[in-house]
Amino acid sequence: MTTQTDAATPHRVVVIGSGFGGLFATKALQRAPVEVTLIDRTSHHLFQPLLYQVATGILSTGEMAPPTREILRKQRNAHVVLGDVTSIDLEAHRVTSTVLGRTRVIPYDSLIVAAGSGQSYFGNDHFAEFAPSMKSIDDALELRARIFGAYEIAELEDDEKARAALLTFVVVGGGPTGVEMAGQLAELSMRGLRQEFRTFDPADSRVVLVEAGPAVLGGYGEKLSAKTRRALEKLGVEVRVNTKVVGVDAAGVDLEDPDKSLERIEAVTKVWAAGVSSSPLGGILAEATGAARNRAGQLAVGPDLTLPGHPEVFVVGDMMQLPGTAGVAQVAIQGGRFAAGRIAGRLYGRPDAAAFHYRDKGMLATISRFRAVASIGRLEVSGFPAWILWLVVHLFYIVGFRNRLSVVMHWTVSFLGRGR
Ligand SMILES: Cc1cc2nc3c(=O)[nH]c(=O)nc-3n(C[C@H](O)[C@H](O)[C@H](O)COP(=O)(O)OP(=O)(O)OC[C@H]3O[C@@H](n4cnc5c(N)ncnc54)[C@H](O)[C@@H]3O)c2cc1C
Repeated sequence: MTTQTDAATPHRVVVIGSGFGGLFATKALQRAPVEVTLIDRTSHHLFQPLLYQVATGILSTGEMAPPTREILRKQRNAHVVLGDVTSIDLEAHRVTSTVLGRTRVIPYDSLIVAAGSGQSYFGNDHFAEFAPSMKSIDDALELRARIFGAYEIAELEDDEKARAALLTFVVVGGGPTGVEMAGQLAELSMRGLRQEFRTFDPADSRVVLVEAGPAVLGGYGEKLSAKTRRALEKLGVEVRVNTKVVGVDAAGVDLEDPDKSLERIEAVTKVWAAGVSSSPLGGILAEATGAARNRAGQLAVGPDLTLPGHPEVFVVGDMMQLPGTAGVAQVAIQGGRFAAGRIAGRLYGRPDAAAFHYRDKGMLATISRFRAVASIGRLEVSGFPAWILWLVVHLFYIVGFRNRLSVVMHWTVSFLGRGR
């Protein structure tokens, strides 16, 4: 491993993934004597927490997914490479990526792997065709087409039963993504689309949120969880807890209710917001290093976020498993910055400092306009104050001044008015 600064051959850092972990690591290396190559299979940095607003027509894709090249245009030591990483050779220190039949092999001295996670259908991958997840811009646009398409077809439908199925939306998973999506779908039908259709009233739509566990937002504590459920129900969302989805097809979903009885809901539009599985790159790294993986495929990393026997390889964000952390943006951001700091520190001859320490900044989820819940340490906030907090935090982390302005404009139109 190269650990010395050499002006002629700068230390080469390869970063895989331009999500929260990878982008913040790259930015943190701005002033370090390194050459950074940031590889991603997409050309953008995706702000996943607001994908549901793309799916429900509040925000457009550009605001949520600015081009990575544009974000890093002033960072002279950063190179952006489009490519799908297919292999990592830890012995030869090389990463191989491909795009449109072109293969590229990029050598590194230090490697930061931040390839994130995908959706898990818990072994039922065939559900994906009928219940798309929300992990990428393509997913959000697909969902947007399905949601607004369902309303359009409902306008043409004469048969009451078929129309009811078109106006039924089932969201699977009662975590923050599912709650936000269900709340937004309810708002869309109650407010957003009011008076826009002639053969039915969008307010008659049915939104069902299905959660296998005993509560929605289970990780937020009993009080906030109960408040969230009440707020959703007030919006008209049917909240079904302790209920498992056992089948999904084009026409609807099959549920196993708490008493183990089976129930069928006819619903044309389904959204899958339950379960994650780590990037398959984790499998390659586990095999090469013997690092353990948990059920979600996350790699067990050392206290300094490196892999066993490879102090030059850092794994951060959703891909890593470290006690006391979860799959949230802050873990990825802080992990990415930590890895960057560690690499730069070594080059400056600073001994490896303390282990990675995650500073938990709390959790936030919106339920509807003007209503959110926040759990920050022992502090629990709900309603309008939590919503303002949510607004400020999200605006802070959206990349780029122009995007922030545009988001504020769209939020004003959607939240004060009802435009989409
Ligand atoms: C819908 C949704 C809502 C969320 N809401 C919140 C929230 O409100 N608050 C919160 O804190 N967290 C939220 N999260 C979680 C948060 O977004 C993740 O924890 C965070 O994005 C993880 O960062 P990461 O860098 O590990 O991975 P990601 O941000 O997912 O980035 C991974 C990157 O790697 C790239 N990649 C993957 N495989 C390859 C490959 N083989 N080759 C090249 N590139 C590859 C991907 O294209 C992607 O750009 C949400 C997630 C989702 C999906």
